[in-house]
Amino acid sequence: MKSTNPIIVVGSGPSGLVAALLAAHRFGGENVLLLEEAPRLGGLWRSFDYGANGRFDHGMHNYFECGVPEIDDFFFGFFKQGECRILEGADRDFAGVFYQNRLQANSPSIDLRNLEPSLRARCLAEVLNAAAQGHSHEATRAIDFAQQQWGPTIAEKFIAPILERQFAAPADELGKGAVDLTALRRVILLDEPEMRQHMESPEVRARLAYPEQRNLPKAYSSSRRGLYPAVPGLEELVSRTVNALKALGVQIACGKKVAGLEIANGRVSTLRLGSADETEVLPCAGVIWSAGLRSLSGLLGYRWSQTTPGRSLTLVHVLSPEPLNDRGLHYFYCYEPGLATFRVTCYRNYCLQPITQSGMIPYGMELLDVPNELAFARAIDELERFGLVSASQKASLVCAGSEAMGRAFPMPTLANEANFHCARKAISDQKFANVSIVGSMATPGLFFQPDVLRHAFATLNEFEI
Ligand SMILES: Cc1cc2nc3c(=O)[nH]c(=O)nc-3n(C[C@H](O)[C@H](O)[C@H](O)COP(=O)(O)OP(=O)(O)OC[C@H]3O[C@@H](n4cnc5c(N)ncnc54)[C@H](O)[C@@H]3O)c2cc1C
Repeated sequence: MKSTNPIIVVGSGPSGLVAALLAAHRFGGENVLLLEEAPRLGGLWRSFDYGANGRFDHGMHNYFECGVPEIDDFFFGFFKQGECRILEGADRDFAGVFYQNRLQANSPSIDLRNLEPSLRARCLAEVLNAAAQGHSHEATRAIDFAQQQWGPTIAEKFIAPILERQFAAPADELGKGAVDLTALRRVILLDEPEMRQHMESPEVRARLAYPEQRNLPKAYSSSRRGLYPAVPGLEELVSRTVNALKALGVQIACGKKVAGLEIANGRVSTLRLGSADETEVLPCAGVIWSAGLRSLSGLLGYRWSQTTPGRSLTLVHVLSPEPLNDRGLHYFYCYEPGLATFRVTCYRNYCLQPITQSGMIPYGMELLDVPNELAFARAIDELERFGLVSASQKASLVCAGSEAMGRAFPMPTLANEANFHCARKAISDQKFANVSIVGSMATPGLFFQPDVLRHAFATLNEFEI
């Protein structure tokens, strides 16, 4: 590296931490500076810490392998046996869904096997026809994608109402990203023996889910592992990563918001840090931006228009003196109209014992559009509706804490996707020679942690300064 100025990584969420690590390996740790606006590092890997009542996660509930050995080995290498729970094989994390007033523990895909026989037969014929026509990558609207994926009946009768419930927006205004954000890639239509006959076809498997996740033939199950630290909370990954980065010589600073850029000869030459009481100017050799497209494009003068606001999310952390009737699920989604739950997390199935110092058993709930002060009461009513607690058990539940997260999820409307597209273009039009973009939404639909980390790896491999 010729310049004496550092490569600056902006943002310290999962993508920023991994980018700083990869940049340190390529360019030398002493040449890397990691900046974070918040007072604490980690982005969405930060934990909520309630002391004896435990630590809870923001959103992700395990480190799930991204398939890049340089990254996966780094995180798994932090933990000796007994210091984390490895989720794999028969002990992998199992997801479910509350759909049509029933908690499905067999799969997170909606189970349509109980449809009236002629309707079920029509749905199946349409799915097999769609599978015979092949992949459906071109659709930009969620509803078109769903039609190409399963045919018109499933798309309109089942998928559209779920999307409308999840995003409180008409299905025909939603982009394809809505299907991914809702984990709605497949549905269940066939019992195990019939489904096994179709397993050889990747096109059918891409559309139909195996009906009993615990019996999924090994050849078709992902060999990727997850891990959850024995000291609960993904923040454990942050503290260990930060120590490793410091040992490589990386400089790290919190409370530093990047508020401006200076550009010279097609390169970002300087970052301006802004806080209420100081302005600092940092010359740089290159920039790895992991702090969101909206903020970077904003610094370049792009203004978002017609933005559809996201739904507000409140996290409620519930403690129970005894295990709830969670049926061994690690988490489940809720698609039921009228209920506020987006997802329930059953931490006891992630954690090694003891779970909390207080001895209570933790559950996490993500609620949509419920004010913080009403969230706990709403959460325990919905736990009863899911069959996790009886009416008499509800009084024994305690609130460890609840957190208003604001508009946490990107809202996948066509209007917002168009904004993201224009923001990416506003950045790429600059043709910066020394800037890379990583992290959530850096490319269309990029959201989930393993995809974000894989993308960071590919981007850093090509990064030049
Ligand atoms: C509620 C919720 C639940 C989720 N659940 C899952 C899940 O179950 N599974 C899964 O795989 N993924 C999940 N995700 C997605 C996952 O959180 C993201 O893939 C991941 O956080 C992306 O990491 P990131 O580094 O891009 O962004 P972030 O984690 O958001 O980090 C960005 C960082 O940049 C900082 N920053 C912003 N602006 C500036 C600035 N101007 N200067 C300096 N710093 C700045 C921020 O403070 C933040 O620390 C969930 C996301 C949410 C919101």
